[in-house]
Amino acid sequence: MNVNYLRISVTDRCNLRCVYCNPLGGCDFIGHEEILTFEEIHRLVGLFAECGIRKVRLTGGEPLVRKGIAQLVRQLAAVSGVEEVSLTTNGVLLAQMAAELKAAGARRVNISVDSMDRAGYERITGFDRLPSVVEGIHKAIEVGLAPVRINSVIVKGFNDGPEQIAALAAMSIHLPVAVRFIEYCPTGTQTRPASSYIPNSEVRRMIEREFGLLSPVLAGDIDGPAVYFKAPNSAGTIGFISGRSSLFCQTCNRLRLTSDGKIRPCLYSACSFDVKAMLRRGAGNEELLAFLKAIIHEKSRYTRLNSPGGQFEQFSMQSIGG
Ligand code: SAM
Repeated sequence: MNVNYLRISVTDRCNLRCVYCNPLGGCDFIGHEEILTFEEIHRLVGLFAECGIRKVRLTGGEPLVRKGIAQLVRQLAAVSGVEEVSLTTNGVLLAQMAAELKAAGARRVNISVDSMDRAGYERITGFDRLPSVVEGIHKAIEVGLAPVRINSVIVKGFNDGPEQIAALAAMSIHLPVAVRFIEYCPTGTQTRPASSYIPNSEVRRMIEREFGLLSPVLAGDIDGPAVYFKAPNSAGTIGFISGRSSLFCQTCNRLRLTSDGKIRPCLYSACSFDVKAMLRRGAGNEELLAFLKAIIHEKSRYTRLNSPGGQFEQFSMQSIGG
């Protein structure tokens, strides 16, 4: 297992309240002093790079609400060994920040959009912000944060209608973007029940009914979990990330660093390692490096199937970082 990818949640705060992630009324935020500082993140990324990490993705919560995020991108892009810094964002603030992020060294962005219908978007996210997000998508393409990927989670009763799914997939017809459908993963009692999940096989059927058969393509990120296709005569691609209906633990190349400084070797396993405690008690680089190397060495022990609480643990997507 070549662990070369680190996802960092830079905040658990978000400017949206998606029903499947951090719904309105159900959130405890972490105190500011518990969140890793930029200096701590920068130091850790330097050490992770010594352990083979080459790609870093900033996520959250919403990474663009963290003050000075472009400055963090700049610091991380300059770390020796780091080949790529990218972000996953809901795109609400992207139109005004895309150029600054690109100039700071961000390579590309994933933008989460679950509905292209304004009312449907508001029902899922709690806010009427679709126009800003669409502006953000166009700005990201314009400044070259490419390839732009759109992430859509389909949730029963919210955006699972054929017309809603077709409208999302249609972005890949007209724009040079990859629209990726991510299977809903139940994360706790505050979000949607497990029965809200729609398998990607069904999503694909709806897309093919509207646009014709999809043909397989290799689209860049071959070491990620997405499988890519193309609709006839399209500018972009369509991807499926089927975390529930398939298992990709064997090829998982990633670690996660939570906003409160825990390393998670597997999204689905409750296991985490408190690296912030070590940083704040003054651990030296040698001790930290040994700690990171041990986690990487043992990563394959932590998978969806052998997580202690069964297949799916309760967890908070916005503090772990999705
Ligand atoms: N705020 C940013 C955003 O919206 O992209 C970054 C954080 S968000 C937690 C990262 C990704 O996780 C998003 O693409 C989101 O759709 C996905 N996500 C959140 N909760 C999920 C869930 N329960 N199942 C599947 N994907 C989920």
